[in-house]
Amino acid sequence: MKITHDFHVHTNLSICANETATVENYIAHAKRLGLKKIGFSDHFGAKDIPNARGFYRAHPYEHNAELKDTLASIHEPDIKFYFGCETEYHTPKRDIALTEEEAEKFDFITVPNSHTHMIMPKDYIGNYDKHVEFMIMAYEDILNSPLSRYVTAMAHPFDICCHTYTSADLIPMISDDTFKRLFDQTAEKNIAFELNVSYTKNMTPDEIANDCHIRMFRLAKECGCKFTFGSDAHDSSQHYFYHNAEILSDILGLKEDDLAEICK
Ligand SMILES: [Zn+2]
Ligand SMILES: [Zn+2]
Repeated sequence: MKITHDFHVHTNLSICANETATVENYIAHAKRLGLKKIGFSDHFGAKDIPNARGFYRAHPYEHNAELKDTLASIHEPDIKFYFGCETEYHTPKRDIALTEEEAEKFDFITVPNSHTHMIMPKDYIGNYDKHVEFMIMAYEDILNSPLSRYVTAMAHPFDICCHTYTSADLIPMISDDTFKRLFDQTAEKNIAFELNVSYTKNMTPDEIANDCHIRMFRLAKECGCKFTFGSDAHDSSQHYFYHNAEILSDILGLKEDDLAEICK
C-alpha cells in the first residue's frame, strides 16, 4: 500500500535537526513522494527531565509554536499539515512529560518509550536486561497515564538510538507474550503504533523483511493496533528512503483499515 502521510517530521525548531529541515523543503519532498499529510512532531517535553542536559529546556511551547505561524501562512491545498509534537517520558514521575494544558494545544502527540540515551538511569546503559525492563516499564507507564488519552501514537516503540548497541540486540530479548500484553492495551486505548522507517535507512527490501522489528510489528497488528508511518526526518536527506514505508507496509500486509484515523 502506498503511504501518503508522514507523521514524524522534525523542523529545525528541534535543536537536533539541521538547517535543511524546513517546511519549504518538506513540502517539496511531499510533492515528490505524493504525501497528502505531514505531521510535524518537534521535540517537546517538561523542562525538568533529568539527564536530558537541558534538551527540553530548549523547546518550550513558545519556541515550538513558531511553526504554527509558519503553517498558517502556507497555501498548499493538496497537503494537510498537522502541528504535533514528540514529547517525552518523565522517568522520576513515571509519566508523560507534559501537562494537560499543553497537550490540548497540539493536533497530535507521540511519545517514545525508547529515548533511553536521555532518560534512562545511566547505570542501566550496557546492561541489556535493565535496558529492556526500563523500556517495558516506560511503555506501560505511558499507557496507564491519565494523559494517555491525548496520545496519538507510540513513537518508534523499542527502537533505541545513540548507544553502542542497537535494537537488534534488545528486541529479540522481549517475548511474544510481553509484546502481546503491551499491544493489546495499546489497541484498547486506541493509541496507534508508529512504524518509524528511520531504522531502514541503509537496508535492502530483503533485509527489512528479515529484520527483528518485523516480529514486533506483526504482533502489534495481530493485537489490533492501528499504525502511523513516520520518517523521523531531522534533515532534508531523510525522505530519500521514505519509499521503504510502502515496502514495510507490503511486508506486513497492511490495508487502509490498519491505519490510524488521523492518517486516512
Ligand atoms: Zn524519537
Ligand atoms: Zn523524532
